[in-house]
This record gives sequence, C-alpha cells and structure tokens, in this order.
Amino acid sequence: MSGTVSAQEIAERLLRADRILILTHEKPDGDAFGSALGFQSFLRSCGRNADALFPAALPRRFSGFASDFLTTLTPAEIRAAYDLVLLLDCANPARIGAGAEFNPAFLSTFEFLNVDHHQGNCIEGAFNLVDPSAAAASQLAAEIALASGREIRQEAATFWLFGIVTDTGSFRFSNTDGRAMRIAAELLDRGADLERIVNAVYFSKPRNQQEFEADLLQNHVRSAFGGKFVYARLPDELFRRHGFDMRDGEGIIDLLREIDGSVIAALIYSWNGVQKVSLRSKDAAYPVGPLARSLGGGGHAMAAGITLESDPEQVERLLLEQVGTLLKKQMN
Ligand code: 5GP
Ligand code: MN
Repeated sequence: MSGTVSAQEIAERLLRADRILILTHEKPDGDAFGSALGFQSFLRSCGRNADALFPAALPRRFSGFASDFLTTLTPAEIRAAYDLVLLLDCANPARIGAGAEFNPAFLSTFEFLNVDHHQGNCIEGAFNLVDPSAAAASQLAAEIALASGREIRQEAATFWLFGIVTDTGSFRFSNTDGRAMRIAAELLDRGADLERIVNAVYFSKPRNQQEFEADLLQNHVRSAFGGKFVYARLPDELFRRHGFDMRDGEGIIDLLREIDGSVIAALIYSWNGVQKVSLRSKDAAYPVGPLARSLGGGGHAMAAGITLESDPEQVERLLLEQVGTLLKKQMN
C-alpha cells in the first residue's frame, strides 16, 4: 500500500490539522465506537476541533457511555467545516459507515488518514497506517497518542480501553498479545475506567436479549462435520419476537463458539435486505478470514464476515460447502 506511515507521522499530521472529522465503519462495534470517541476526546484535549460521526444508531449498551458525537452531516457541511478526515477500523469503501457519498474519492479531497488493523484493507488514504498485528484500531489509536508525547486523559484512555476490551473479548481472543496488554496497561495507568467498561459490555444485558439468546440456543443451533461447525440461521421472526436487533449483537456468536467441540462458528441473519454472515474460528489451522474474502467478505483470520445478496437457504448451503472444504483440507 502506498502512503504507509508511522504512528508518529499520523500523530504529527493530526496535531497539525485544525478541523478533524472522525469516521468509522457501519454498524459500529466497540472498537469503532471506542477508537473514534477516544480520538475525539484526545484531539479536543490537544486543542484541536475534532468531531466523531456515527450516522446510524449505536448499540444500546454504548448509549450510557457517550452522547457527544454527530449523527448527521452532509458532504457540503463537511467541506465547510473540516480539513482532515480520519477513518478508523474500516477495511473497505463499502463499509464506510456514513452513506454512499462518503466514498474514497470524496474523502481524498481532504487530507485523508486511514488507520486500521484489518488484513486486506483496500482503502487508499493519503496516509495509511494499516497494521493487522494490532489487536484493535483502538490500540493503534493509543499508540499514535503515545507517540505524540501529549497527555492522554482519563476519558480518551477509557474509550480506547473499551475498544481493546471488546475486540479482544476481554483478552480471550487470539489477537491478544503482549503489545495489546502493554497498551491496555498504559491506558489503565492513565485512569481508564475498566469497571465502567465491563459493566457496560458484560453486565447490562436486558431481559429481552437473554430471552432472545435462550430461544436461539434452544431452537436454532445446527451443527455439521461431527460438531466442528456450529451455526445458526436467525429468522427475522426471532428478532421480532424478542424485540432484539443485531446492532446489539456483538458477542451473540460467542454462544456458538462457547460450545464444546466447535471449531468454526457462524451466524446467518438478514440486515437491511441482504444476508450477513458472521464467522469465528477457535483454531488457527482453520482460519475463516480467507474463506470470508473468497466470498467477497473480509475481516481477520479468526473473526470475519460476509455480506451476500442471496436467500438464507442458499447462504447456508454455500457455508456448509466452504466450511466442509476448509475442515477437510486441514484434516488430510
Ligand atoms: P462481525 O462478525 O462482528 O460482524 O465481523 C467480524 C469481522 O469481520 C469484522 O472485523 C469486520 O471487519 C469483518 N466483516 C464483517 N462483515 C463484513 C462484510 O460484510 N464485509 C467485509 N469485507 N468484512 C466484514
Ligand atoms: Mn476493530
């Protein structure tokens, strides 16, 4: 990728800019949310004008955590108000979570920085820091702030720790390494509020979500290949019955990953008229990232996703075929 730069250089460019717009991927997860709001907070504390934009509703459990961000902005307003666009945690143009007009061509009319940790990031910012060995975009964000030598205050530290905690599943997933833990420790040393993060992420599940999960486990779990592939097709009716929405679904796939003997877990559900597939692997010998990419999706080796314009039955058949091939390839 051209225009690849160091954390230090990203920091210098951010601190040289005056009016900064922060964007992330659609359907923001904890890392998108944390990396963007952490930068908003950090850059403001450095005296910059910085605003994070989340055009669609955020997960409910994040709502007590922050409300100071933009929810609408037209391209004309952006042009008038900002010089630099910082895109975080987003690997491809179709996933920029701000509407079709926010394409790379438009964003390239600004000083456009792309900071991400996804393998295969295909966005060409003017300056790119794409590091797939980083556990979270929030980790890269904290590294950029540390490289700047500026003070990281408690609020920014808390948002960035939020992203690291959610993207590593609280330091359980295989992206957890010494570097992720050292950055988390730096953030804790600056007052990051782990108790508040853990309460928001793990200990505030509403009753309807618990009922949704029980129904899912009771009625929708399927398995194949001797239990190595565990998956669930989630009909719209299941979401309606429990008033639950996959915007709040980060972690639902872990109900399947948790099952003893499962190696690959998948969820299939409709989202805005298309089929979404979430994939997780528990064994590096069977990575789901390449599988997702071969079907037009993307993500990380052990956590990936695909969007397909198809019907759920066809998606299920396709997955059974692909996962079967992956499991067999390694067994021989
Ligand atoms: P999740 O299963 O949590 O939705 O997504 C897991 C990972 O897969 C995310 O880090 C995200 O980057 C990637 N991912 C999810 N859905 C898609 C998709 O439709 N297309 C691409 N390219 N990547 C996806
Ligand atoms: Mn991430």
